Amino acid sequence: MSTTLFDLSGKVAVVTGGNGGIGLGIATGLARAGAAIVIAARNAEKSELAVRSLEKAGLRALALTVEVQDETSVRDMVGKALQAFGHIDILVNNAGISVVSMPQNYSLDEWQQVMNINLNGSFLCSREIYPHMKAGGGGKIINIGSMTSLFGHPVIASYAASKGAVVQLTKSLAIAWARENIQVNAILPGWIETDLTAMIKQMPDYQAAITARIPQERWGQPADLAGTAVFLASSASDYVTGIVLPVDGGYAAM
Ligand code: NDP
Repeated sequence: MSTTLFDLSGKVAVVTGGNGGIGLGIATGLARAGAAIVIAARNAEKSELAVRSLEKAGLRALALTVEVQDETSVRDMVGKALQAFGHIDILVNNAGISVVSMPQNYSLDEWQQVMNINLNGSFLCSREIYPHMKAGGGGKIINIGSMTSLFGHPVIASYAASKGAVVQLTKSLAIAWARENIQVNAILPGWIETDLTAMIKQMPDYQAAITARIPQERWGQPADLAGTAVFLASSASDYVTGIVLPVDGGYAAM
């Protein structure tokens, strides 16, 4: 199989939440495959650091500030990305948060915050970039789900609901935009060591119970997501759309 199938040279990828964790792991993978990267997140300082780390490795990246739940902010970010690079070929909807609480204790605000960022943010970024992908002859959208796209969880009901919905958004966009040569797929990361899961380190029994349920017997690192993202961003996956792909050390198979 030719390696050019996975070559992203000349492509431009917007990675929301790309300034750390899984987003940066994916951004690094896409950049190493040849893409220019737009790191799009709220914390400008953290995004600049991420860009510098990519540039240090000889990779091409630009930091743009975005609040993914805000239409105007998303429009502004996409406009600036187009101004800088002229086109957007790949979108990774990775920005996400969680609020930990028993469902009966969620305020409506807490519930909506998670839905607005994880679900609405993915919709808004996809909708904003769609016409530009269409005009460019196609594109790739990668949504980031979770194991809670498949399973429930007692203390992150809003997160699980949002990630379940991300899967149905993925399938719906895939069907809607298939004729425009835009492939839309989802990655479902397993348990990955990032800021989001750092609090579990304070709960050694829980952490050990999770690890014991992972067939590969280890948590994932952000870099573990890179290969699958490159596949879904490249022409190697041109006949793959609407799928949800766990990257989880076997967790979902168990
Ligand atoms: P991090 O907290 O490290 O990353 C979250 C990223 O999202 C940050 O870069 C943050 O940047 C950005 N972000 C959050 N809210 C917004 C917003 N409103 N607008 C723009 N950017 C935002 O966590 P992870 O790397 O773990 O999470 C990345 C994705 O992976 C999330 O969707 C998460 O749900 C998913 N995931 C994580 C798993 C894990 O085990 N870690 C497992 C399954 C899924 P900033 O604060 O600068 O805006």
